[in-house]
Amino acid sequence: MNIVVCVKYVPDATADRKFEDDNTVDRVGVDGLLSELDEYAVEQALQFREKREGEEITVTALTVGPEKAVDAVRKALQMGADSGVHVVDDAIAGSDYIATSLVLAKAVEKIKADAGADLVVCGMASTDASGSVVPAMLAERLGLPQVTLASVVESQGDQVRIKRDNEGSTEVIGATLPIVLSVTDQSGEARYPSFKGIMAAKKKGLETWSLSDLGVDAGEVGLSVAWSQVEDTTARPPRTAGEIVTDEDGSGATALVDFLASKKFI
Ligand SMILES: Cc1cc2nc3c(=O)[nH]c(=O)nc-3n(C[C@H](O)[C@H](O)[C@H](O)COP(=O)(O)OP(=O)(O)OC[C@H]3O[C@@H](n4cnc5c(N)ncnc54)[C@H](O)[C@@H]3O)c2cc1C
Repeated sequence: MNIVVCVKYVPDATADRKFEDDNTVDRVGVDGLLSELDEYAVEQALQFREKREGEEITVTALTVGPEKAVDAVRKALQMGADSGVHVVDDAIAGSDYIATSLVLAKAVEKIKADAGADLVVCGMASTDASGSVVPAMLAERLGLPQVTLASVVESQGDQVRIKRDNEGSTEVIGATLPIVLSVTDQSGEARYPSFKGIMAAKKKGLETWSLSDLGVDAGEVGLSVAWSQVEDTTARPPRTAGEIVTDEDGSGATALVDFLASKKFI
């Protein structure tokens, strides 16, 4: 069995983030990292493998992104994935969900042709664009059932059962492999790479593919064919000092209520 885990390289939220002139995110000139929410996807892929002792299961980490996006794959390898694939091509810059899911699907199909792909695991959303739609699009393109937003993942044989938490209820959903699965940040703490894992990752296979390796035409991806466009962006205003309500004459509670009401919190 082969598990493909989709890992996105995103700008570091704690560092300075910038937009390009065309309102896309600057993904090249800023510090980036494996999207924290995709660490949960890697964790679930690794747990899936570990719970099936005796079965031959490989975990392949896949990213689509600029040169530096290879770091997302490296982190997944350090956590325990067996091999990695980085799809990089200048034409991909500025791609929307539709184009991103196309490239990911073609890469999964290529992995599948070589090694199989019984399970594709994604995060619940990226931490930059937060679309939460790529897993569903990927499932549609691959013709696989989508089992999304899992807070609990259980499996036996070719059966997978997940719990999806909603407001006030929990759904239990079952599906038969192969599937596309996405997992939430409630699915289990992601492990830190150990020193041994970091050293071992250096020797693991990491392939770099271009659009032509996937048979994707450059005209099918990129900003010029995006179905939606970010027209304008405004930097968030700097944080202002908080307001302190003092209660020197017993009017504190009223002042607090007035403040909350003025902000429409109550
Ligand atoms: C400022 C800004 C400008 C943008 N401009 C445009 C625009 O003009 N037009 C437009 O249509 N879109 C635009 N986008 C959206 C951008 O193209 C998305 O980042 C991209 O389409 C993927 O969507 P997502 O990150 O929301 O994925 P989600 O659906 O939130 O991702 C869910 C999961 O899918 C997987 N995944 C997603 N992307 C990748 C990847 N690259 N590699 C590997 N796995 C992945 C991961 O497992 C991830 O957890 C913009 C985004 C930003 C932040």
